[in-house]
Amino acid sequence: MAIASNDYTRLGQAARKFLDRQHGHLINGEWLRASGDLAVIDPSSAQAIATIGAGNATDIDAAVHAAHAAFQHPSWSALSAADRERLMLRLADLIEQNASLLADLECVDNGMPRGFAGINVGGAAGVLRYMAGWASKIVGDTVDVKMPFPGSQFFAYTTREAVGVVAAIVPWNVPLMMAIWKLAPALAAGCTVVLKPAEDASLTTLALADLIIQAGFPPGVVNIVTGRGREAGEALVTHPLVSKISFTGSTATGKHISHLATDSLKKVTLELGGKSPTIIFDDANLEQAILGAANAIFTNSGQICVAGARLYVQRSVFEQVAAGVARHADSLVLGAGLDPSSQLGPLINARQQERVEGYVQRARESGASLLTQRHSPQTDGYFVAPAVLAGVDQSDALVQEEIFGPVLAVLPFDDLDHAAALANDNAYGLAACIWSSNLSRVHQLVPRLKCGKVSVNTEGFPHPALPEGGTKQSGYGRDLGRESLDGYLDSKTVLVRVS
Ligand code: NAD
Repeated sequence: MAIASNDYTRLGQAARKFLDRQHGHLINGEWLRASGDLAVIDPSSAQAIATIGAGNATDIDAAVHAAHAAFQHPSWSALSAADRERLMLRLADLIEQNASLLADLECVDNGMPRGFAGINVGGAAGVLRYMAGWASKIVGDTVDVKMPFPGSQFFAYTTREAVGVVAAIVPWNVPLMMAIWKLAPALAAGCTVVLKPAEDASLTTLALADLIIQAGFPPGVVNIVTGRGREAGEALVTHPLVSKISFTGSTATGKHISHLATDSLKKVTLELGGKSPTIIFDDANLEQAILGAANAIFTNSGQICVAGARLYVQRSVFEQVAAGVARHADSLVLGAGLDPSSQLGPLINARQQERVEGYVQRARESGASLLTQRHSPQTDGYFVAPAVLAGVDQSDALVQEEIFGPVLAVLPFDDLDHAAALANDNAYGLAACIWSSNLSRVHQLVPRLKCGKVSVNTEGFPHPALPEGGTKQSGYGRDLGRESLDGYLDSKTVLVRVS
């Protein structure tokens, strides 16, 4: 394992200019000065590279009022679905035209490798395009009703209506993508939005704000306020003019937000944490399965909600698979995202670095065997070398808790029943991955897994048309796919007596 260097000369001109800007909040189509500042830290160097606004309740109040006014204003409410679609497509084009800037910013703000950042930027444009198509396909039903009134006739139908102002709160792990997962269906449905990115990675969302203005969205349709969760986030989710909260983040914060929303009965969608199992049967293509299992946990340094953090391997191939995944982990190049040779970026901050290392250390103290070399990077950045640990117990914290880092627990299983029991023995229920060449086995196991998504003989790549979300402690509601629109629409029943 090598440690790639960190070299800011690789940053494009547009990104350098963007970092030097004074960043405020986008409210009612204008940039407003922030009342306080937050430092933006590049996790690969631990250096401050920019400042963003520390939004407070006053900023949030202004943003929500702007969104509320825009929701009722004919420039948005009377806009045809085709015109909403056109605006969204224009925004997607602008994202692509500014892909280099956005990828550069994601790279130094979140720490992810530049190549992965580029994929996410392209993916964000793809989600907008997919959702833009739904704007013109939102329909209700006509319902045949007969009432017990002789001689009378009735006609009934349902309509779907935008819920109103959406509070969208997103995490730092894939910042632009997470923002678009919320924005795209909300805009397609005709809602207006106040978006609060995570305080640890807001830059691409701020760059997106420029593009939203450029695309020509009416003022107030999308408002962006940066700041801390306790301050800006809480003011947003408790604001009386917000109709819907769409949250992606940790389970603890999601529960807290859900409590806060109870009194006002706001609609809530929660995309929360995970501890997803990868299950490898002895009849799998082991070469592909080993690579898939490694990618499932090490992509974005394990900072992905669906990360395959628990690897269950059928006993007869356990040693071979565990050693293969560890070998792959040891071959990965840790480094700053801007370095093209880097495959594994840092974690987001010092707190996460310490937390993740703590899990590895405690597991080793309890007797787990470390299968990876773990050369410690000599840098100020928040790097964590990948760890593959065997000899752990199903009840260990390492196996049960979301770590959100490049740490994999490997355990053996005997048969399908055993694999299903181990996979489901966890508080979370986000995703699972099965590797097997036996279709019968696969289709017996899929319905037994309690989670929102199962991928078979492939990594669980997101696709705009496929719903993402979970069950159990992973939350409820869905991002992406047609289903995601439901979270931004109310249903209205109309009953008409025609004679
Ligand atoms: P977090 O819960 O700490 O923060 C997420 C967002 O919530 C941030 O914008 C933060 O400012 C805001 N926030 C924090 N406290 C708040 C409060 N009291 N009121 C309102 N807003 C508040 O999560 P994180 O550490 O940024 O992100 C990592 C978590 O996100 C992981 O648990 C991961 O699994 C989860 N995640 C889930 C999905 C999914 O689709 N299920 C996708 C990505 C990440």
